[in-house]
Amino acid sequence: MINLTLTEALQKLNNREISAVELTRCYLDRIEKYGADLNCYITKTPERAMMDAAASDARRAAGEAKALDGAPIAMKDLFCTRTIRTTAASRMLENFVPEYESTVSQKLIDAGTVLLGKANLDEYAMGTFSKTSFFGAPINPWQMERKLTAGGSSGGSSSSVASGLAIAATGTDTGGSIRFPAAITGLVGMKPTYGLCSRWGCIAFASSLDTPGPITRTVDDAALMLSAMAGHDPKDSTSATNGFTCNAPLEPILGNGKKLRIGIIKEFADVEISTDMKTLFEKRIADLKSMGAEIVEVSIPNILDALAAYYIIAPAEASSNLARYDGMRYGVRVEGSDIYDTFKKSRAAGFGDEVKRRMIIGTAVLSSESYDVYFMQAARVRRMIADSFNSAFEQCDLIICPSSAGTAMPLDSDLSPLEYYALDLFTVAMNLAGVPACSVPCGLAQNNLPLGIQVVGRRFDDMRVLQLAKHIETAASVDNRPTIIMGK
Ligand code: GLN
Repeated sequence: MINLTLTEALQKLNNREISAVELTRCYLDRIEKYGADLNCYITKTPERAMMDAAASDARRAAGEAKALDGAPIAMKDLFCTRTIRTTAASRMLENFVPEYESTVSQKLIDAGTVLLGKANLDEYAMGTFSKTSFFGAPINPWQMERKLTAGGSSGGSSSSVASGLAIAATGTDTGGSIRFPAAITGLVGMKPTYGLCSRWGCIAFASSLDTPGPITRTVDDAALMLSAMAGHDPKDSTSATNGFTCNAPLEPILGNGKKLRIGIIKEFADVEISTDMKTLFEKRIADLKSMGAEIVEVSIPNILDALAAYYIIAPAEASSNLARYDGMRYGVRVEGSDIYDTFKKSRAAGFGDEVKRRMIIGTAVLSSESYDVYFMQAARVRRMIADSFNSAFEQCDLIICPSSAGTAMPLDSDLSPLEYYALDLFTVAMNLAGVPACSVPCGLAQNNLPLGIQVVGRRFDDMRVLQLAKHIETAASVDNRPTIIMGK
């Protein structure tokens, strides 16, 4: 059962070949067996899962099955879940139990999913290896003995899906946190258009960039998950009115004489990437050409400045969003000599180093003497990048580029903060522009680890992004399962 994709499992559930209870038990057994080694769940919810599964089977028996009825999923522990601890992987929220349900998790409940647990992540989603988690880093199930990163910040989500401890998972992508973890674990990671999935009830990092989305085994699975997660929400002021619906497998957009212009970003050609990434990227371009796609070079002149702009804008917004954690109403509280001392002591104890670093950077770039030269400059660069994407999409329908420079690195890699930040080079620009981007497996490197490439589209062109990603997925035909799945 563990080898079924979400799409296949739903078929089998609907044909009554398997039950939601059987499927859920199978995942819970595996979580019991491998959960501790992989550290992909912060909170497991087996009782809730069995209740959800039984209710799902009852709905199906009554002929009332919903779109994802009986699918056992992992929820990134950034989405507030009513009565279930939600930590953001921070000591600050170690014991926080929300009284409300985030819109995205509510939509997934409404779609009939079964909640297996809350997936590990970087503290407040700030990081790239999920190492900043207060609960320790999740492990990449590929070559498990090597203790490689599953990526970040949605590293528990990628680890759980790649290892068969969830059939699909939610993630959030502020600067690459869905796409990077998916890419280096052999999965599909879809960052939808900003605003397509509601941010309400999702613990804020950088509100103008935060984008919920799915991490799945296949592109069709991603389309199914996104259909359930997307939709207008009056409770999120930046929620789009556009929806997203895809009930059937995605339709081909290539072949049979169909025309499609695919752009390659000129400025990325000079960026150093691994030879494997280069080779696989070229192979996939050759596939797309042979299917009749026209490849054109496009220019996003400021795209290499995206990293600098992101690491000003994201910390600035974070410093403001995280001001609310003052030890007063919820979260860690350390009594001080007066109220300000309590603020100070609580925040000092509750936040980890990376979160503190971001708040210090954010506060600095927003200070009156730095605002114009840092924050305003970054905002201008952001505008230019968004405009450049718009002009590029006058010359092509979709863009492709690598998801990362190379494969998963060991968790104990000794990188400086700036070296970590630099790993986001291929992903942050899409967040600044708010455009949809999907990372899809493009093959295995020489070291037998997976790599991914991104398909990027115009705002609200999420469907075509997924359609092209599916062609790449088919052409690459990666066996996206590490050995832990095969029981070897
Ligand atoms: N790695 C990026 C960062 O540390 C992206 C994180 C994210 O998308 N949540 O900010």
